[in-house]
Amino acid sequence: MTALRSLTGRVIVVLALAALIPTVAIGTLAFSRTRGDLEREVVRGNLALVRALGAGLDATLQDARRAVEIAAAIWADGRAAAAPTDAADERATARVLGRLGRDIPVLARLAIVDGDGRAITGDPLPDGVDLAARSFGGYVGDAIFVDGHPRVPLVVQARSRTGELVGFFVAEIDLGFVSDALAGARLGTGARVVVVDGQGTPVARSDGRPPGGASWRGRPAVDRALGAAAEGHLSSGGTVAVFRNLASYQSLRGVRWAIVLEQPEADAYAPAAATRRTTILVALVALAAALLLGALLATRLTRPLGALAGRADAIARGDAAGPPVTGPGEIGHLARRIDEMAARIGERAELQAALARGDRLASVGVMSAQVAHEINNPLTTVLGYAKLLAEDKPDDHPDRAGLDLIAGEAARMKQIVAGLLDYARAGKSDERGPCDPAAVAHHVAALTAPQLRRTRCTLDVDLGGVPAAAIDAHALQQVLVNLVQNAAQAMPDGGRVTMSWAALPGDVALALDVTDDGPGVATADRARVFDPFFTTKAPGAGTGLGLAVVKHLIVRAGGTVEVLAAPGGKGARFRITLPRA
Ligand code: ADP
Repeated sequence: MTALRSLTGRVIVVLALAALIPTVAIGTLAFSRTRGDLEREVVRGNLALVRALGAGLDATLQDARRAVEIAAAIWADGRAAAAPTDAADERATARVLGRLGRDIPVLARLAIVDGDGRAITGDPLPDGVDLAARSFGGYVGDAIFVDGHPRVPLVVQARSRTGELVGFFVAEIDLGFVSDALAGARLGTGARVVVVDGQGTPVARSDGRPPGGASWRGRPAVDRALGAAAEGHLSSGGTVAVFRNLASYQSLRGVRWAIVLEQPEADAYAPAAATRRTTILVALVALAAALLLGALLATRLTRPLGALAGRADAIARGDAAGPPVTGPGEIGHLARRIDEMAARIGERAELQAALARGDRLASVGVMSAQVAHEINNPLTTVLGYAKLLAEDKPDDHPDRAGLDLIAGEAARMKQIVAGLLDYARAGKSDERGPCDPAAVAHHVAALTAPQLRRTRCTLDVDLGGVPAAAIDAHALQQVLVNLVQNAAQAMPDGGRVTMSWAALPGDVALALDVTDDGPGVATADRARVFDPFFTTKAPGAGTGLGLAVVKHLIVRAGGTVEVLAAPGGKGARFRITLPRA
């Protein structure tokens, strides 16, 4: 049973593996694909956000620049036409400044200087503004922090329609709008955005912390952003980052400012983590169900094997009888084969027992025959003298009854001895015919006619067309006489005995049947009736040697003899098979 249990265990392990391997393989594949898809999705979404933010910031700055440029051009035209001291010109200048102040809310201050950099009007000039460097190429430079507020100077040349450089408009843009834009952005969980200038200094932060401070150079996302041509993304240190340059904002070295969005991967992939948790849970439940089902199935599968093992154990103990094991497919097949095997083992055991008995009986027979031979002569003497003495005595002589009894018993002993000698002789005859069974049968009919008459039995010889048999005619006669006499003895109140024959397949042997309609032979006795000394008759009536002699004679001739139920169910049929001559 241990072996079986381990078989059940092994079946469960196989089923578990069969369920686990595809689950893990498909699950891993699905996760990696989902992860890849999600990464792309997160990057796409965040990039779209920074693009929109960047575009807004660029537009604000460009609008401001354009407004200043237009104002500068108009002012330069007016200035070129008018004399520098003209009051109208001053008013026009004031108007331009006023309009710019209204139109550009991000304008912190504005100064107009002449071509040599001397202030003409407006706010004081911001410190360190290199007019020549800033008024070309659209550079705004890096952020300048005034009281912690980031600003950038915007320098625009004011040229008249004829191209004459009349002066510069030096504006200072308050970058508070960048912080406002970041604050208004709808960021994902845990995401934060920072806008850095060309040096990596934060200009605005979405986390509400004040801008400025140390440069963020050295942070992978910021370094990549400031080095990139347009936009990109990277994952490092558990953070996924996207970045984009701001085209309108450039340091004096031509390095574009950048907007960088960073989001911890845990937040970015939180939906995936939830999905993964659910998937793992479902997979585990499915796996547990599969294992449970597998265990049930394995137990069911191995149960017939357990029954088979029990059956095999029983057979090994010598108990071949038992309920048959059933099962589907190969197991059923195996069970049937085991049953057949058990049946064969049983048959073989019976055969061995019969052989052992046969050996025993054969030696008893041989010894009996020797004894019979030795006592035959003294017995003849006893019988002869008893008869002689009896004949001399008149019927009323007191010795007469005793002498008759001696003679009767001696005669009975001689009958037994004759039977034993027949038995012994039966084993010695080597004659093999050929003989005509029909002729022998008719002779037997004549020999047994008186006994048949006494028991009012009839004998039909139905042997027309019977082929010659390979047996000594005397032996066959002895056999048939024995069988007919037995039939007659079995039917003391009359009956019918038939001798018939049948061809056997292959035409090498024939069957001779002696059938009667008497009481028949009980099934339990059928194997034993051929044993020497087996008799059911009253003591003195039978010796139990007749059928033993029959069997010896037939076996000697290479044939077989068996007793069957007569066709029709009533009576006995002794079937002899003999080789054909
Ligand atoms: P015996 O006739 O001396 O008993 P046999 O060897 O001839 O010895 O027969 C053995 C036994 O077989 C008989 O005692 C009888 O029980 C049984 N037997 C033989 N022939 C028949 C038959 N035709 N019908 C019924 N029983 C028979």
